[in-house]
Amino acid sequence: MLKGRTALITGSTSGIGLGIARALAAQGANIVVNGFGDAGAIAAIEQALQAQGVATMYHGADMSKPPQIEDMVRAAESRFGRIDVLVNNAGIQHVAPIEDFPTERWDAVIAINLSAAFHTVRMALPKMKRANWGRIINIASVHGLVASVQKVAYVAAKHGIVGLTKVVALETATTGVTCNAICPGWVLTPLVQKQIDDRARRDNLDNDAARRLLVGEKQPSQDFVTTEQLGAMAVFLCSPAGDQIRGVAYNMDGGWYAQ
Ligand code: NAD
Repeated sequence: MLKGRTALITGSTSGIGLGIARALAAQGANIVVNGFGDAGAIAAIEQALQAQGVATMYHGADMSKPPQIEDMVRAAESRFGRIDVLVNNAGIQHVAPIEDFPTERWDAVIAINLSAAFHTVRMALPKMKRANWGRIINIASVHGLVASVQKVAYVAAKHGIVGLTKVVALETATTGVTCNAICPGWVLTPLVQKQIDDRARRDNLDNDAARRLLVGEKQPSQDFVTTEQLGAMAVFLCSPAGDQIRGVAYNMDGGWYAQ
């Protein structure tokens, strides 16, 4: 379905971004990989994607640095012509009450989880519009729809990206470019494993007990959302069925937001 198209997925060296990269490559899209990691691991990711019959490139832009983001978009366009599918996924978390929240962590979360998407969209959109086809998929969170304690920067950034999604959807509404957000609940990735480890340490629990507690508190299904399920949703949004899905914040959260 995406043969000849190019997808840039920020933060695709791990977790959800990697799952989405695999799903889009399985549909034939060339993949621009971004994110941190050691060179060997990143080369292995590229090789595995290429084994799906697509071309890849890696750009290590730090998504908190606008000049590096601009360089990445330019490099992707000069290699593949244009970006057809832009997935804004790179993200970090920091957990602390607002009085103790380090201002440097606030700045970093807002830069990576929110401002980076402003920069990629403003850079990639002109060529998408010229081609009259494009898909912008923002990986927000159920925290783009509801709040939790001790996550002030993350919740603010994720609510912000839901707003950005709506504005971009309206500004592209008469074109073949769509913009939507996916709002996952708990997904078992390194970002969440760190929170499980902290919980296990704090409450003197083993990993399984801490994991069950974390998911059970918020997610009625008591089960994680998977990166494969999120990849399948990204593929669906890229299909012709997605042509008129615009400005949606679609939660995939085991029932979290229904409560
Ligand atoms: P992860 O830690 O597994 O992966 C994060 C990716 O972002 C990695 O590739 C990392 O290298 C990259 N990254 C981090 N900082 C970066 C920077 N400054 N520049 C470039 N790349 C950077 O996390 P994940 O759980 O896969 O999270 C991916 C996205 O999904 C995030 O936006 C996160 O907020 C969102 N999300 C995750 C969950 C969950 O439960 N895991 C739930 C809802 C939303």
